[in-house]
Amino acid sequence: MTDPLEKARQIADDVLFPAALEVDATGVIPAGHLDLLASAGLYGMAGPPGVPDAPMIVESLASGCLATTFVWMQHHGAVRAVADSAQPDLIEEWLDPLCRGERRAGVALGALRPGPPSVRATPVDGGYRLDGTCPWVTGWGMIDVLLTAARDDAETAIWSLVDAVPGPTLAARPLDLVAANAATTVEVTFDGHFVPAERVTTTLPFAEWGARDAAGLRMNGSFALGVAARATRLLGPTSLAAELDACRAALDAATPETLPAARAAASAFAMRAATTLTVASGARSVLRDHHAQRLVREAMFLLVFGSRPPIKSALLDLLSPEIHPS
Ligand SMILES: Cc1cc2nc3c(=O)[nH]c(=O)nc-3n(C[C@H](O)[C@H](O)[C@H](O)COP(=O)(O)OP(=O)(O)OC[C@H]3O[C@@H](n4cnc5c(N)ncnc54)[C@H](O)[C@@H]3O)c2cc1C
Repeated sequence: MTDPLEKARQIADDVLFPAALEVDATGVIPAGHLDLLASAGLYGMAGPPGVPDAPMIVESLASGCLATTFVWMQHHGAVRAVADSAQPDLIEEWLDPLCRGERRAGVALGALRPGPPSVRATPVDGGYRLDGTCPWVTGWGMIDVLLTAARDDAETAIWSLVDAVPGPTLAARPLDLVAANAATTVEVTFDGHFVPAERVTTTLPFAEWGARDAAGLRMNGSFALGVAARATRLLGPTSLAAELDACRAALDAATPETLPAARAAASAFAMRAATTLTVASGARSVLRDHHAQRLVREAMFLLVFGSRPPIKSALLDLLSPEIHPS
């Protein structure tokens, strides 16, 4: 069997990258892209027994097509939540189909932001009622289920699997993005949406979420590395290749304390690599069919996507130390 990283590289170079400009221009990810990732076993990346080289797999795929990789990446939160769930029936029903990519997932984690919860869970007979709005949910129309976070009155965070189907109690409002628009990011609103207790994967005192969140921020840095890697490859041999390796090494070695600076450096580097490609390519880089303009917009997106206050501060420090985050 081919090694998963080798497969990811092959898919990125032979299928995703050749289609990336069309995906960007049309705002549509061919269903075949996600099916290919499923048939390569990559929807099971976060499931048992796990795969080595996961960050490099993400980077390789993102160097092919950020939009496709972005949709696929949301899936793994649900795989991990189900695998770690204390509910054997939930594991039995969901884990294998999720790992095979027969069922596909997104995440709605807006309720985990500090301050009052944007999505509330109220205990009702047989489960919970969800009310509120999650401002960013990626993959709409390409997922079957949403790992949704909510908080109850006791400040317990509750994660559950919600069918990603619009209806009287669940509405999705499309957002129009300047990059990775094909990943179909929407705002989701719950209005008394019922979720059965059997679909609850995890509960945790909300006070404990911050430390868990901080420990899990490495992987999103691989999106920026992927964009930087593609710009670097298109430029040909330059010292940017060594800088890319240094950014990756810093992310890999980071502790929760040093990770924000490493994430910031990766994002800033992606933008610099993409703008370097733009300048080196000359005026034609502003044509819609040139990769430089797509990569610049994607690098811009990765300056803000998946950020946290210490990442934002570190990035502003790099870009313009006199500006303080609002
Ligand atoms: C295009 C796009 C697609 C996205 N898709 C998804 C998605 O599919 N599912 C999803 O759940 N989120 C999604 N997000 C949200 C993303 O993960 C980050 O929350 C967001 O990029 C942070 O933006 P911000 O810094 O402007 O903070 P805001 O969105 O303004 O959030 C306010 C504060 O909450 C913090 N915060 C945000 N999210 C969390 C969290 N999960 N845990 C702890 N603190 C948090 C932020 O760091 C910030 O300090 C998406 C964002 C973008 C831009």
